[in-house]
Amino acid sequence: MNTDAIQACGTCYGQGVASSDLAPCADCGGVGRLPGALVLTERRLRELEQSYGARGGETESDVRWLVGEVRRAQHALVQILAASQDADDDDAIATKIKFLANDVLHVYPKRPA
Ligand SMILES: [Zn+2]
Repeated sequence: MNTDAIQACGTCYGQGVASSDLAPCADCGGVGRLPGALVLTERRLRELEQSYGARGGETESDVRWLVGEVRRAQHALVQILAASQDADDDDAIATKIKFLANDVLHVYPKRPA
């Protein structure tokens, strides 16, 4: 699957190295390019789980529920996007569904390169 992974990392300016200690950049893993939107979203969800998981109580359970719902909705959109690609190219509804799902997922560039 083609992704928007071509975006240069803004933290290290595409160099892949953290400026402070010449260690690999934490945001791109030293590659110099950001991963696709699906990976970035999952990374952020895990950060939220770790951050709020340590707090316990109602906040932890609310965040855990919300993160689960985001993952479930994202998984559904990936399935919808994949199903829309099985339609004929002249199917206007499938084309619209593909556009709408991709508008959220950012799997494909919004405009052809
Ligand atoms: Zn970087």
